Amino acid sequence: MDHFFCDQCGLCCQNLHLSDQYSDLDSGDGTCMHFDRQSKLCKIYETRPEKCQVDHMYSLFFSYMTKDEYYQLNYEACQLLKNQAK
Ligand code: SF4
Repeated sequence: MDHFFCDQCGLCCQNLHLSDQYSDLDSGDGTCMHFDRQSKLCKIYETRPEKCQVDHMYSLFFSYMTKDEYYQLNYEACQLLKNQAK
Protein backbone atom coordinates (compact mmCIF):
# COMPACT_ATOMS: atom_id res chain seq x y z
CA MET A 1 0.00 0.00 0.00
CA ASP A 2 1.73 3.20 -1.07
CA HIS A 3 -1.06 5.66 -0.57
CA PHE A 4 -4.13 6.04 1.56
CA PHE A 5 -7.30 4.85 -0.13
CA CYS A 6 -10.11 7.35 0.40
CA ASP A 7 -13.54 6.15 -0.77
CA GLN A 8 -14.81 9.76 -0.74
CA CYS A 9 -17.67 9.07 1.65
CA GLY A 10 -17.27 12.62 2.98
CA LEU A 11 -17.88 11.63 6.59
CA CYS A 12 -14.62 13.04 7.95
CA CYS A 13 -15.40 16.42 6.38
CA GLN A 14 -18.83 16.34 8.05
CA ASN A 15 -17.57 15.52 11.54
CA LEU A 16 -15.01 18.22 12.18
CA HIS A 17 -16.49 18.86 15.63
CA LEU A 18 -14.81 15.64 16.76
CA SER A 19 -11.37 17.27 16.61
CA ASP A 20 -10.33 20.70 17.88
CA GLN A 21 -7.71 20.84 15.14
CA TYR A 22 -10.41 21.40 12.52
CA SER A 23 -12.51 24.01 14.32
CA ASP A 24 -11.26 26.75 11.95
CA LEU A 25 -12.95 24.93 9.04
CA ASP A 26 -16.21 24.10 10.83
CA SER A 27 -19.19 25.91 9.34
CA GLY A 28 -21.05 25.52 12.64
CA ASP A 29 -22.68 22.11 12.37
CA GLY A 30 -19.53 20.03 12.16
CA THR A 31 -19.37 20.22 8.37
CA CYS A 32 -16.44 21.91 6.67
CA MET A 33 -17.10 25.24 4.99
CA HIS A 34 -15.33 23.82 1.91
CA PHE A 35 -17.44 20.66 1.68
CA ASP A 36 -19.90 20.47 -1.20
CA ARG A 37 -22.98 18.91 0.40
CA GLN A 38 -24.41 17.84 -2.97
CA SER A 39 -21.41 16.15 -4.56
CA LYS A 40 -19.92 15.21 -1.15
CA LEU A 41 -16.53 16.37 -2.39
CA CYS A 42 -14.06 18.98 -1.20
CA LYS A 43 -14.45 22.24 -3.16
CA ILE A 44 -10.79 23.11 -2.62
CA TYR A 45 -9.33 19.62 -2.94
CA GLU A 46 -6.22 20.67 -4.86
CA THR A 47 -5.40 23.38 -2.31
CA ARG A 48 -6.87 21.77 0.83
CA PRO A 49 -4.97 22.31 4.09
CA GLU A 50 -2.06 20.06 4.98
CA LYS A 51 -4.10 18.59 7.85
CA CYS A 52 -6.53 17.16 5.29
CA GLN A 53 -3.77 15.37 3.39
CA VAL A 54 -3.35 11.96 4.95
CA ASP A 55 -0.07 11.05 3.29
CA HIS A 56 1.44 14.47 3.84
CA MET A 57 0.53 14.34 7.54
CA TYR A 58 2.33 11.03 7.82
CA SER A 59 5.55 12.62 6.55
CA LEU A 60 5.18 15.60 8.86
CA PHE A 61 4.12 14.01 12.13
CA PHE A 62 3.61 10.26 12.12
CA SER A 63 6.66 8.66 10.57
CA TYR A 64 7.59 7.24 13.99
CA MET A 65 5.16 4.42 13.10
CA THR A 66 5.06 2.39 9.93
CA LYS A 67 2.91 3.65 7.12
CA ASP A 68 0.75 0.53 7.31
CA GLU A 69 0.11 1.17 11.01
CA TYR A 70 -0.76 4.78 10.27
CA TYR A 71 -3.12 3.81 7.46
CA GLN A 72 -4.74 1.21 9.70
CA LEU A 73 -5.48 3.84 12.36
CA ASN A 74 -6.99 6.09 9.70
CA TYR A 75 -9.11 3.27 8.27
CA GLU A 76 -10.33 2.47 11.79
CA ALA A 77 -11.37 6.11 12.24
CA CYS A 78 -13.20 5.94 8.89
CA GLN A 79 -15.01 2.81 10.04
CA LEU A 80 -16.06 4.43 13.34
CA LEU A 81 -17.62 7.30 11.40
CA LYS A 82 -19.34 4.89 9.00
CA ASN A 83 -20.74 2.86 11.91
CA GLN A 84 -21.97 6.03 13.59
CA ALA A 85 -23.70 7.16 10.38
CA LYS A 86 -25.69 3.91 9.97
S1 SF4 B 1 -10.88 21.35 3.39
FE1 SF4 B 1 -11.74 19.77 2.09
S2 SF4 B 1 -10.76 17.85 2.73
FE2 SF4 B 1 -10.45 19.39 4.37
S3 SF4 B 1 -12.15 19.02 5.80
FE3 SF4 B 1 -12.77 20.64 4.33
S4 SF4 B 1 -13.90 19.57 2.71
FE4 SF4 B 1 -12.71 18.05 3.86
